[in-house]
Amino acid sequence: MKTVALALGSNMGDRLGNLRQAVHLLENQRIRVTTRSDVFETKPVGFENQKRFLNACILAQTDLSPLELLAETQRVETLLGRARDVRWGPRTIDLDIVLFDEMVVNEETLVIPHPRMTERAFVLVPLAQICPGRLHPGTGETIAALAEKIRNEDRSMQRIAPL
Ligand code: ATP
Ligand code: CA
Ligand code: CA
Repeated sequence: MKTVALALGSNMGDRLGNLRQAVHLLENQRIRVTTRSDVFETKPVGFENQKRFLNACILAQTDLSPLELLAETQRVETLLGRARDVRWGPRTIDLDIVLFDEMVVNEETLVIPHPRMTERAFVLVPLAQICPGRLHPGTGETIAALAEKIRNEDRSMQRIAPL
């Protein structure tokens, strides 16, 4: 079994419901969700004229390969009505694979660790709640240390609920 970390985001419709439904839809015989962060409200990054996001992270145990897990996350995105239009634009759900065990993956459709995680408080702050001591396979730093460096990037970020 591998330990994977996923980052979840939603800024359309019932945002909290979308996050919880995504976790529920991901769980099956081959994906066991073990740990959930809190849910944070965060400011949109990249494409700023849109509703605020809710973000959270989860840890799961899986025997799927990285590409098989990507297929599962994309299946759940589609089930929740995710339309793939504007990059970084509004979406009912976004599921990114942040860490996959200690692996480094560089496929055309899948890069792990997620290449932009180290610059995103909305990923690192919830991730640091659930696996502070884990090492980023690229930089060798702990998740807690990476989160500490970026924590002030979004000063308006606030914890709003358990996932
Ligand atoms: P960002 O990747 O900056 O967070 P995004 O989540 O808005 O942006 P999407 O439109 O959801 O981007 O995804 C674009 C493509 O990214 C997906 O089709 C997928 O193949 C690819 N991808 C690469 N690495 C990953 C990863 N670690 N997790 C999820 N998707 C990934
Ligand atoms: Ca994303
Ligand atoms: Ca994505």
